Amino acid sequence: MTNQISCIFCKIITGEVPCYKIWENDHFLAFLDANPINPGHTLIIPKDHANDLFDLSPTILRELGETVQKVAHMVKIGTQADGINLGMNNGRAAGQLIFHTHIHIIPRFEGDGFKHWRAESIPNKEEFIQMQAKVINYPGEDRGI
Ligand code: 5GP
Ligand code: ZN
Repeated sequence: MTNQISCIFCKIITGEVPCYKIWENDHFLAFLDANPINPGHTLIIPKDHANDLFDLSPTILRELGETVQKVAHMVKIGTQADGINLGMNNGRAAGQLIFHTHIHIIPRFEGDGFKHWRAESIPNKEEFIQMQAKVINYPGEDRGI
C-alpha cells in the first residue's frame, strides 16, 4: 500500500483518522462523507494513494467500476433512496478538495432539492464542430472512432 504522509484519506486507510466504514476489501475502502449532501453520502477510495482519475492504474480503475456498483447498491438499499448520483471531481477547477482520488455516491430522494448543473449557453454548429475536432485530436493511441 502506498501512502502519502500528509494525505487525510491515507490516514483514514491506516486508521490514524477515524471514519464510519461501509465496506472494504484489499484495494478499496468506502466510508461516510463527513459533510453529506444527503444522509448516506459515501466515498469510495483506492487504498493505494492516487491523486485523481488520471493517476489511477487501469487495473484499479476497472476494479473501481465493480466496487462502485456494489457499494452504490448497498447505499441505495440502506438509505431507501429513490436514486443515486455518482460524482468524481478531478482537479481544483472541478471542485476537487482532497487530492486522494474518490468517487462520491450520493443517495437522492424525490424532492430533495439538490440541483444538477445546467448549460449556461448552447454552442452553435460551428463551435460544436471545432470542439469535436479538438477532442478527437487526442495524441494517445486509442481515439475510439
Ligand atoms: P472533493 O471536493 O475533493 O471531491 O470532496 C472531498 C470530500 O471529502 C468532501 O465531500 C468532504 O466532506 C469529504 N471529507 C473531507 N475530509 C474528510 C474526512 O476527514 N472524513 C470524511 N469522512 N470525509 C471527509
Ligand atoms: Zn492518500
